[in-house]
Amino acid sequence: MDDATRRNGMYHDLEQEPEEQRRERKWQAAVELIRQAWNSAPAFKTRLENAGMTPEDVRSAQDWQRIPVLRKKQLIDLQRSGLRLGGLLTTDLGDLQRLYFSPGPIADPEGRDQDFWGWTEAFYAAGFRKSDLVQMTFGYHLTPAGLMLEEPLRELGCAVIPAGPGNTMQQVEIMTSWPVTGFVGMASFLKIIRDKAVSQGKNPRTDFHLRTAFVAAERLTEAVREDLETSFGMLVRQGYGTADLGCIAYECPDMGGMHLSSRCLVEICDPKTGEPLPAGETGEVVVTPFNPVYPLIRFATGDLSRLITQPCACGRTAPKLAGILGRADDTAKVKGQFIYPHQVAQVMCRFPQVVRWQVVISNPKGKDHLELRLEIADNIDSASVQAAFQEGLKLRPEVSIRTESEGLSENAPALVDERNYEDA
Ligand SMILES: [Zn+2]
Repeated sequence: MDDATRRNGMYHDLEQEPEEQRRERKWQAAVELIRQAWNSAPAFKTRLENAGMTPEDVRSAQDWQRIPVLRKKQLIDLQRSGLRLGGLLTTDLGDLQRLYFSPGPIADPEGRDQDFWGWTEAFYAAGFRKSDLVQMTFGYHLTPAGLMLEEPLRELGCAVIPAGPGNTMQQVEIMTSWPVTGFVGMASFLKIIRDKAVSQGKNPRTDFHLRTAFVAAERLTEAVREDLETSFGMLVRQGYGTADLGCIAYECPDMGGMHLSSRCLVEICDPKTGEPLPAGETGEVVVTPFNPVYPLIRFATGDLSRLITQPCACGRTAPKLAGILGRADDTAKVKGQFIYPHQVAQVMCRFPQVVRWQVVISNPKGKDHLELRLEIADNIDSASVQAAFQEGLKLRPEVSIRTESEGLSENAPALVDERNYEDA
């Protein structure tokens, strides 16, 4: 199959819907969703009642924005507060298709509907086509990534090699021995695979058969994309979504941002008030997926972005998100994993020598770097702190020890995100 075929076409008509029609369709879907959630998801009913509202009060966009946003960290306690994930779910747990656990303590329920997470249009836009043989390098255990991103491949008629993460040698062996045309995983991992192959004397263009890649879970810089596209002679496209929501937006062949998914309502809001901002301003991405099983209405992702409304050459009419421009609250995402200060605190309380701690995330040369700064009162084995942190948060920090005299101030923030995306 030539690259022109991969770059052309749409998965379905909704991608070319006129704007007016899209707005009306999404509004009707949103209104129907809150009616269903009011009747079947007690947690939503309580949220609406606390705002002094009923579904009948939601008649316009102005009414809609009065619905208080739901934050990811609220899920932690809410999901454990009662049956059906504390009334967030409209079905019994046993009637789901799967129940995942995203990093940390949050459950992610998957219903039985076809294309449940909505990634299929994204994979089509990334150039995946029927009869592709695709190597899946996201994990399959507990976290949703592997299975969630297999779903669109099944919809499109591709075959999947469920390789999972790690095992670089074996990944190279499979990709160079078999006609693997697609890759799904982190761009940084594809780079590691490529570099390993090159070190073995292999040529990415002639020893591999890759034509397209769908990457996610970490920031993709244009330098990394170009490096991969050039060395393999392939397309590299990314999508944006979360374990709770599924697909939110995705790149098309023409790039320049990520088209909003046809299966959710996306708002850009003031991170403090939850009120929508004027078009083009940067704010928090607030998403309502049209998911009657798990109606996370007005779910605040904590990610910052802005909307691009200029027409796209690809013919898709949905506005685009201008990538993820930062984090709105006190969590940060590193290598696809969220870091919550309370998770770090849970690890740190095992080390009584630690007086204060701080997590600092930076990105020298565009690569995420995690540092755990410790102020200690007594000797500590930094390797065991590192191991405990990795066990609890699935990320390995560099540990830097400070004595009391050069220690952290009492009000030092638990999490500092110093990453700079200017040069991306
Ligand atoms: Zn486009």
